[in-house]
Amino acid sequence: MIVFNNQEKIFYSDRIVFEHGFTTRLSEVDKNFAEYLITKKNARLIFTPEQIHADGVMRVGEQRQGSEEIIASADALIYIKNNKSKACLYIRTADCIPIILASKKGVVAVVHSGWRGGWLNIVGKTAKKLLEATAADQLLACIGPGIGECCYVIDEKRAQLFKEKYRQWEGEIISNTANEPHLNLLKLVYLQLVEAGIKAENIDWKNFCTCCQKDLFYSYRQSKGKLAGEMFSFICL
Ligand SMILES: [Zn+2]
Repeated sequence: MIVFNNQEKIFYSDRIVFEHGFTTRLSEVDKNFAEYLITKKNARLIFTPEQIHADGVMRVGEQRQGSEEIIASADALIYIKNNKSKACLYIRTADCIPIILASKKGVVAVVHSGWRGGWLNIVGKTAKKLLEATAADQLLACIGPGIGECCYVIDEKRAQLFKEKYRQWEGEIISNTANEPHLNLLKLVYLQLVEAGIKAENIDWKNFCTCCQKDLFYSYRQSKGKLAGEMFSFICL
């Protein structure tokens, strides 16, 4: 289940054993999130993907200590714990869907999936890689705050792209309200996780919408394309 930590003002899954979360507008985190992880969470290794809206999944390991490493061409990172240094992975979003995956044995990932990532199935690709390293009954997925179907109007051309590629899910991911197609990115991510082999009962999600829940979240669409701020999704172990 996804719950709210009232002290830190972050959402998190009450089933993932490692420190993790999805920050909100209310969280007192610095724009320099790596600095925050170093000073507040004692992180020694910090990894973040470049985030280019593609489907690059990279495994990260033991690199420089005490500084941030930006992983080029990646939108998802996998880390498998194998030493004592505290490592943190994080991504930043403001409408795209953030996903954290974790097994209690220390196989974890963070994924950034907007419409392009959804189209390319980056979350399914990441989940499949994790399932090579851990058993399905050990792996939990948590889908964080992104733009809801309510606010995510897309044009006909993009709707057609999704209908053609994901014909089997068309009725679940595309809806028409006021004659405009809406894309349900959250549902798409959920279906992709299940298709990749994650157990449905091991997926935590909530009906978030970064665009209408203005008091809680930053939204790229809400701010009319100007980035007013971003949320961070992180896991440390
Ligand atoms: Zn909405």
